[in-house]
Amino acid sequence: MKDCVFCKIIAGEIPSAKVYEDGEIVLFKDIAPLAKIHLLCVPKEHYAHLSEWNAARKRVLADALEKIAALAPSLGLEDGYRLVINQGESAGQTVPHLHIHILGGEPLGWEK
Ligand code: AMP
Ligand code: ZN
Repeated sequence: MKDCVFCKIIAGEIPSAKVYEDGEIVLFKDIAPLAKIHLLCVPKEHYAHLSEWNAARKRVLADALEKIAALAPSLGLEDGYRLVINQGESAGQTVPHLHIHILGGEPLGWEK
């Protein structure tokens, strides 16, 4: 989608530090990391919210979780990691292209 920063990253129009890519998702480093390792897992299809669920998106996200689990050891996340999806402004969503935050690489606290 025009004017979407993640669509531009997916299209290679703006740079990113990609650590994994396939036909359905891309993983790249968050530009403002909140943990020692902070990656974003982004479906290549543009949509903003989980409420825009359909069968194809459901399969891509389920596959994404499986891929994250498989990739974790090679990404330095062998000791554990946290997955976060911010949905909507109140939750802190700033980029309206669905994404999963992957946080780890160090012991994580728990704050609201
Ligand atoms: P959220 O607040 O859940 O929508 O998360 C958006 C995330 O995207 C934030 O953690 C930002 O730091 C990150 N972000 C924004 N622009 C970029 C970019 N160009 N490259 C990498 N990460 C980005
Ligand atoms: Zn997008």
